[in-house]
Amino acid sequence: MSDPADLIQIDHGQSARTIHLVDKGGYDAWLAAQPPRHRAAIEAQGFAAKPFVSAILPGDAPDDWSVVTSVADVATLSRWCLAKLAETLPAGTYRLADGDPGPALFGWMTGQYRFDRYRKAPAAKGPRILLTRQPVLRDRLAAEARATALVRDLVNTPAEDMGPDALEAAARSLATRHGASVVVTKGDDLARGFPTVHAVGRAAGRDHAPRFIELFWGAAEHPRVAIVGKGVTFDSGGLDIKPSSGMRLMKKDMGGAAHALALAGLIMEGGLPIRLHLLVPVAENAVGAHAFRPGDVLTTRDGTHVEITNTDAEGRLLLGDALIRAGEEKPELIVDFATLTGAARAALGPDLPALFANDDALAAALTQAGTAADDPLWRLPLWAPYDDMLKSDIADMVNSAEGGFGGAITAALFLQRFVPEGVAWAHLDTFAWRPAARPGRPKGGDALGLHAVHAVLRARYGGQESR
Ligand code: MN
Ligand code: MN
Repeated sequence: MSDPADLIQIDHGQSARTIHLVDKGGYDAWLAAQPPRHRAAIEAQGFAAKPFVSAILPGDAPDDWSVVTSVADVATLSRWCLAKLAETLPAGTYRLADGDPGPALFGWMTGQYRFDRYRKAPAAKGPRILLTRQPVLRDRLAAEARATALVRDLVNTPAEDMGPDALEAAARSLATRHGASVVVTKGDDLARGFPTVHAVGRAAGRDHAPRFIELFWGAAEHPRVAIVGKGVTFDSGGLDIKPSSGMRLMKKDMGGAAHALALAGLIMEGGLPIRLHLLVPVAENAVGAHAFRPGDVLTTRDGTHVEITNTDAEGRLLLGDALIRAGEEKPELIVDFATLTGAARAALGPDLPALFANDDALAAALTQAGTAADDPLWRLPLWAPYDDMLKSDIADMVNSAEGGFGGAITAALFLQRFVPEGVAWAHLDTFAWRPAARPGRPKGGDALGLHAVHAVLRARYGGQESR
């Protein structure tokens, strides 16, 4: 897709069609002030003052039309309030009759995302361009829209074309763009250094071999922040194989890695004064003669013995090694993203990533930032008594608690065992997927929780601006 930034231009009085915004409170007064031909057009098109509804208003000349759309509140626009217009209007340039689109610039860009890689004839409709007088905001929201498009592209691409090689290529291209360095561990070194990543990925074909990707960026004097993303490029469940309904979307099981890569891009593009350590454990959880088995005991990077009660609980295994590795560099903050549990979806549905954190201030900042950025999170507890559910008869712990109660919590408690003492840590169990289209958010892969974390990092470490 083209650069989302091309969909927003700075308003210097160029010719553009007008978008009128109305809300429920102001609708009657607005309607009364309209000429008869507008009132007739509004009635003919069944316009009502409800969000995402719009109508075309005729002008003096045949080509001189404008458009009216309803928003919840004209005084506080949301990220999504113009997104449906961006999807449905004809190609052309538009400006608001009054005020600036502000946060709505974001949905204007993300609503025009299309995943056309596998279409012979991509949609031919030209760009819908919106004007703004806020260049700084435009640049930041365009960067966020670009990051969103990266997550969507990576997640939407099928596992055959988004295997470990492709994920590594995505990390390398990001590093090249921003002058970061990359270390990739594979083969025997992976088996020695990141044994759980190797164990989960060793049954996959040679062209989908597991690996551990690290990206380093930023000046040594800045605080170290580790970003971790689960990169299971396809999750069959392993020998505890998933039913077909549960396997259908498993190309998206690298959604955490996609979020982590996109966030790293935002951090580097924004020049945040942090020392970034990005960690992406990558494996395909395949079925084969070399697959790890139920009942096996795996040894993690720090020597913890984990009895495998379910090979489908593979994400926490490779994240464990990643968290251990992150801790070795003594970060002050670790954030991980993972499409980890169905239990998080059962609890909160697809739209709300489950947030776990060992630091109340960090959790509060993340949930507040999520609400402010229309990127909501919901905190679940690291409920210590449930740690007992991870007891093993023969090893230090099991990977999956029996019974399945509180599955998102026990998965998070598993991860917490590998987080170093005294380091602030947030874990986002995200779906990385929209099961149904919403304005600005097409069906398919999507960034959920990314902008909340980005906002907190900007507030915590001070980017160039904070709006
Ligand atoms: Mn699994
Ligand atoms: Mn998985």
